[in-house]
Amino acid sequence: MQKLSFVIGVTATGKTYFIENSFKDKNVEILNIYDYQIKVYDEEGYNDSIPIDAEFRCLKKANDMFLHDIIEKLKDGKNVVAEHTLYKAKRRIAYIEEIRKAADVNIEVYVMCPTDILWEENIKKRKLLKDFNGYKREYTELFEFPNLSEGFDAIYEVSDGKVFKREDPLKPEIVEKARKEIKEENERIFKENKSRMEKDKLIKSMNTRPFWHYCEVCGKKEFITAQDAFDKGWDYPPRMGFFGLLSPRKCGKCSINDTLYWKLIIEDGSSDSSYTDLTPDELITLRRIQEEPESLIETEEE
Ligand SMILES: [Zn+2]
Repeated sequence: MQKLSFVIGVTATGKTYFIENSFKDKNVEILNIYDYQIKVYDEEGYNDSIPIDAEFRCLKKANDMFLHDIIEKLKDGKNVVAEHTLYKAKRRIAYIEEIRKAADVNIEVYVMCPTDILWEENIKKRKLLKDFNGYKREYTELFEFPNLSEGFDAIYEVSDGKVFKREDPLKPEIVEKARKEIKEENERIFKENKSRMEKDKLIKSMNTRPFWHYCEVCGKKEFITAQDAFDKGWDYPPRMGFFGLLSPRKCGKCSINDTLYWKLIIEDGSSDSSYTDLTPDELITLRRIQEEPESLIETEEE
């Protein structure tokens, strides 16, 4: 029967080295989650820094692509070795369920468990973000050791090159819990995607639709398009500044020196942390800017 071997574990525990030395069969396809993550970050245009919510989205996308390729290779008749961190039982359970639906395959997992001495050496050799204690803590706090109840046919522990078969007692209760967590997570992601798409659509529509332009200085307001506003000399997003970020919101007749932006950013040099002693009108302006572009669609109640 075809075989799928997961090789999992924390950073610098020797996954790649173990794979290179243990799976030399010609019919083996080796897939590494790291390659997929790099590819997704590239595609999404992230190089060095990634916002947290985007990182979660990218990792999920990489995981989905990884799973897709595992299944494709198995369908091609290959044996597959899959290198991944896979800390969480729920991720492994979700993978195994999908794979078993698509292919009749023997699924085993090798868990890298080096002794502290070897692991610390590995970490020192590579220039990594965290030190040994950091990774050790990550392992202790986050890593859930695999259990046969997750759907594996066999579980092995790899310690400094030696392989031991693990025969831990079954924990069937983890499966239901994992399914529930995955379901909730998928629902949350679906909702987030939907609201992000709606927000993007709204922001795009602000280029063409008429919306309220409020002059924070003289109090004038006009329901006009961005083009009209620009032609009349308004300072207003999307042509000038960005929705939701403090910059002048004023008509063509008023002066930038009288704007909230001027008071807070230019004169005070403060960031958004010290917005004390604002007048009621200034607070209204600030709130309106923070809630853009939604705050510009409907007529404000007087
Ligand atoms: Zn004005």
